[in-house]
Amino acid sequence: MADTSDALVFFGASGDLAYKQIFPALQAMVRRGQLNVPIIGVAKAGWGRDQLVARARDSLAHHGGVDEAAFAKLTALLSYVDGDYGDPATFERLRQELGGAQHPLHYFAIPPSMFEPVAEGLASIGATAQARVVVEKPFGRDLSSAQELNRALRRVFAEEAIFRIDHYLGKEPVENLLFFRFANSFLEPIWNREHVNSIQITMAESCGVEGRGAYYDEAGAIRDVVQNHLLQVTSLITMEPPSAADPDAMRDHKTLALKAMLPLSDRDVVRGQFRGYRNEPGVAPDSQVETFVALRLRVENWRWAGVPVFIRAGKNLPVTTTEVFVQLKRPPRLVFEEDHPGHPNYFRFRLSPDVFLSLGARAKMPGEAMRGEEVELVARHQSPDEMAPYERLLGDAMRGDQRFFAREDAVEAAWRVVDPVLGRATPVYEYEPGTWGPAEADRITPPDGWVTPTPPGIVP
Ligand code: NDP
Repeated sequence: MADTSDALVFFGASGDLAYKQIFPALQAMVRRGQLNVPIIGVAKAGWGRDQLVARARDSLAHHGGVDEAAFAKLTALLSYVDGDYGDPATFERLRQELGGAQHPLHYFAIPPSMFEPVAEGLASIGATAQARVVVEKPFGRDLSSAQELNRALRRVFAEEAIFRIDHYLGKEPVENLLFFRFANSFLEPIWNREHVNSIQITMAESCGVEGRGAYYDEAGAIRDVVQNHLLQVTSLITMEPPSAADPDAMRDHKTLALKAMLPLSDRDVVRGQFRGYRNEPGVAPDSQVETFVALRLRVENWRWAGVPVFIRAGKNLPVTTTEVFVQLKRPPRLVFEEDHPGHPNYFRFRLSPDVFLSLGARAKMPGEAMRGEEVELVARHQSPDEMAPYERLLGDAMRGDQRFFAREDAVEAAWRVVDPVLGRATPVYEYEPGTWGPAEADRITPPDGWVTPTPPGIVP
């Protein structure tokens, strides 16, 4: 199925995600001339087309701004189907609205419990055979529910037609990480256990759960960001070079990297919860859900055996930043008589909120003595995403490009890693808001300590 999708149906048109992300992405795609097919919003809000258009305008006014010319074009493409997903008449109306479209893209921006009935409703009107489907995260709550969800979707759609969205993979800096690794030759000889001492990934947010307590209390940090975003990033750092000739090679190698990660055990994980979390609206008064996690991961293959990967993620931490830090080994011997040999060399990939990649090295300080100082060479410093991930990924899905979507086996491999430590498998320790998690997390510390993220060019 090589053709570009000839209609876009988005389920959940009245939802929060549509409001915050999808309408802005659609307007941007229209503005770039990348979207010129019928767009059908579906929801059960009791709306007509006018209300959908009004909702789109309101969404844009709050998220990125209305571009009147692009909005007029977008409006001309929009139509609306109202109805419950449990009602066959909803899908009959959709069939009418689809008209002559042969291979639509269906976007499930709806709760995962709705995926199966909607897929079956689409099958009942014959709108699946040549279609593609984009499904939102979370893809399951654990390994067995992810497998069940995969089975349900696969009853209706072929794997080549399923696009599991992880918006992280559509982020420019995440793609740059991949590009930097495989478009340069100098990294490959050192990107292995002989030269890398440890890898650490920090995903810190200084905010709390911001009114999304009910959602967060069902998830926690491991389900919310580790199983998906951070293990995907880890797979990009640790995967083997893909072959350019094979379009699915990148996903093959990412999956192999995920499969090489050992399932986590209690010893590898410390969970924390910020003080005051249980008073948040929607959060259980005795919640054991983690708002912080620190973990040590092992990637057991020839390239990475013995190189620990440390991940920490959480809310109400001192800063908001996501950063990958790859620390190299020290030189085998000290040549110069320095009191302190300083940090080993490193690579730093800042993924957000600003974007840069840098290399930490030692250089001689001016003067008679052979003494050095640490310097950081910034190879790239750019502004945040020029193209928002949803715009990028929806465009890819319309064209049938699956490179930056998660494949069934990769999703299941990632769940296999975290499955043993989900829920109450380990205790949760309280921490003060604005700190780096509970004191108990000290036992999960990289060999030279956690690196506190600093601005580009400033040695951490
Ligand atoms: P919402 O609850 O805000 O919206 C869900 C949508 O599904 C609404 O349009 C709702 O319609 C519709 N819906 C639910 N049940 C039915 C039904 N039986 N028949 C017809 N329509 C129905 O959810 P979100 O928009 O927040 O999330 C949607 C998906 O995106 C989820 O899978 C979520 O995990 C994922 N996601 C959301 C993010 C976000 O920031 N919001 C971020 C990342 C992923 P109505 O309002 O009319 O009831």
